[in-house]
Amino acid sequence: MSKLPSIAELILLIAREERKATEIIEEIKGNIGRKESEANAYINLFLDEALAQAKQLDASGSKPDEEKPLQGIPIAIKDNICVSGKPCTCASRILEGFIAPYDATVVARLKDAGAIIVGKTNLDEFAMGSSNENSAYGPVQNPLDTERVAGGSSGGSAAAVAYGGAVAALGSDTGGSARQPAAFCGLVGFRPSYGRVSRYGLVAFASSLDQVCPITRTVQDAALIYSIIAGPDPCDSTTYPAEPEEMDLAGEIPEGIKVGLIKECFDDLEDERMGDAVLRSFREARVELVEVSIPLVRLSVAGYQLLAMAEASSNLARYDGIRYGRRIERLGLRETYFATRGEGFGDEVTRRILIGTFGLSEGYIDAYYNTALRYRAALAAEFEEAFKKVDFLLSPTAPTPAFKLGEKIRDPLAMYLSDIFTAPAALAALPAISIPAPDKVDGLPVGIQITAPRFADAKLLEFAHAVERL
Ligand code: GLN
Repeated sequence: MSKLPSIAELILLIAREERKATEIIEEIKGNIGRKESEANAYINLFLDEALAQAKQLDASGSKPDEEKPLQGIPIAIKDNICVSGKPCTCASRILEGFIAPYDATVVARLKDAGAIIVGKTNLDEFAMGSSNENSAYGPVQNPLDTERVAGGSSGGSAAAVAYGGAVAALGSDTGGSARQPAAFCGLVGFRPSYGRVSRYGLVAFASSLDQVCPITRTVQDAALIYSIIAGPDPCDSTTYPAEPEEMDLAGEIPEGIKVGLIKECFDDLEDERMGDAVLRSFREARVELVEVSIPLVRLSVAGYQLLAMAEASSNLARYDGIRYGRRIERLGLRETYFATRGEGFGDEVTRRILIGTFGLSEGYIDAYYNTALRYRAALAAEFEEAFKKVDFLLSPTAPTPAFKLGEKIRDPLAMYLSDIFTAPAALAALPAISIPAPDKVDGLPVGIQITAPRFADAKLLEFAHAVERL
């Protein structure tokens, strides 16, 4: 497996004329040729187009600069984010034949910065899953151990970066879908504060939770992509009106930083080695570690799933065979709806639409949806209290390293429970990052999750960058 340079390294190599944009695309092509048939990280590849773009850049001698910081940098995009003129499948049969009519804001911003889009990556159907096994295009294998999952739902994005099929990728995270696959593949996955990054052109799963996220080799690369894609967008009224703050990634861990270990996360670990792997770098760092209790994280999967399923049931009502993608024509409109939706959606998506509809229905909405909303507010309040005492919160990203393909796919509850550590930050709209721990467990990477107060994204990236270098 040939390891690609990080974005930051590549920028330097291109600037010093030690590497050409075409050479990088050729290298990626080689890696894809060797690895993709096993990994199944991509649903669509645009390598010829990417090569043509790179040739043009090389011929014109243009290099990354202030205006085009990502000039010539190949990036993969999760296939629930629209790239104009390309299919956007969401790994669902129901979107077969759908071509995105516009660029998502994040894609437009990457293209403006000079990035080359190499392909669209595999995912769990409509981003629903934790293993990338719920895909109409087949499961993704973890390139570090092909018997294991790459994580989900952004498993394709993580696998592509891990095996050198892209220098970096965009994923999306509703309850952990960028952080957990990054952790399983030994990469960095950064979920910005809700509202920092535009969702325009990201296919909606659960709108109050969805965020676009970079999946990269280093924190510096995540920060670079974040600084390009973040910021207000008139096309998404939920974006936060201020531009993201400047970051200084050169620094060390500042004096007097207090880090809270989320007690419930560490107490509930079945495998102590997970906790030890997460804590090792911190024990040697100049930070004060304290234990902090956030009791409501224990209910995060129940709260998350009720809300995410409710929102999904409403968001996915638009796939009726009339407006988008595939239509299974029957005599009569109702029959056409039933046939299209019945055949178009996979099992997990169907399950969530049914449960979500139930949780919103008259007679049950108070017991389920409204209770989950109250839970969400109470959880956010517990986080707010915790951040009065500490600067950052720490936990493993997931309770285990990458599990085996097939291990949880027949047990949806076990699958949902694997999100227990990532769902809380999403529910509380907080920024959180997963970075690889220095130690492995059973030879597999472990993710360190660091969570920060809302809109402290820049501080979180600075801190994570310093931790990564310990
Ligand atoms: N694994 C979680 C789920 O299945 C999170 C998915 C996501 O973040 N898109 O809902």
